[in-house]
Amino acid sequence: MTVTRFAPSPNGPLHWGHAYSAITAHDLAGADGGRFLLRIEDIDGPRSRPELADDFRRDLAWLGLEWDDVPPQSTRGANYQMAASRLQQMGLLYLCDCTRADIAAAATRAGPEGPVYPGTCRQCDHPPEGPAALRLDIAKALEITGPLTWHDALAGKQQADPLMLGDPVLVRKDMPASYHLAATLDDAADGVTLVTRGRDLFAATHIHRLLQALLSLPVPQWHHHPLLLDDEGRKLAKRRGSKSLADHRKSGEDGREWAQKIRIGEWPCGIRQESD
Ligand code: GLU
Repeated sequence: MTVTRFAPSPNGPLHWGHAYSAITAHDLAGADGGRFLLRIEDIDGPRSRPELADDFRRDLAWLGLEWDDVPPQSTRGANYQMAASRLQQMGLLYLCDCTRADIAAAATRAGPEGPVYPGTCRQCDHPPEGPAALRLDIAKALEITGPLTWHDALAGKQQADPLMLGDPVLVRKDMPASYHLAATLDDAADGVTLVTRGRDLFAATHIHRLLQALLSLPVPQWHHHPLLLDDEGRKLAKRRGSKSLADHRKSGEDGREWAQKIRIGEWPCGIRQESD
């Protein structure tokens, strides 16, 4: 039985890109009578707007989707802390108080997500005194796990290359976990068998695969779908003027009809799918 999930962060309203992602995950689970889960990724306290979660549910219902709710990230802190202490006991985490500007100044290469953290604090004799994040020492972690592979339903078998993104933050200064740690643990806890999300998170999966190996978590398959772009070829975003699903819903449009169109690749006006 396939278990998929849609895991939006409640820091802005959903748009057509989210609708496409949710419909894809929903239909992949439906194909074999599986389950489609909704997980609210509200770990980022200050940026989270709790009232949006109910709006997300209204949007999904408007599209004609059915789902099972699983607990939001804000209730899962203990699980994140347990995993972080385990990694710490394995000697794989180190403190880092570098700012974005420090990293931009020190980086010697760019990765898929911008300047790659060059490991500045890995060898530090004096640990930072103020608030600091915890980073994963990827090279050391790979010595434990050895080479890893993972499988994407569209792109096929992948050799995990977690070094590509540099040592990632697993515990943020102000939060019990970063996206990487939280999403990996949640997918395991929720029994997700097919992690369905946009291609913008493809590189992140290299890290997630490594975390699964380190924490002895089950290894799902992945389905990274192409993104929807606006007419200037940019990812959809509310701040760039993409209309939200709630706007369409509230103006009385038929969400089920829109969902059917999206299923056959008939995109709303001014939107296209990224090409390979
Ligand atoms: N919460 C993430 C987002 O809203 C999605 C994470 C994921 O699907 O793994 O972009």
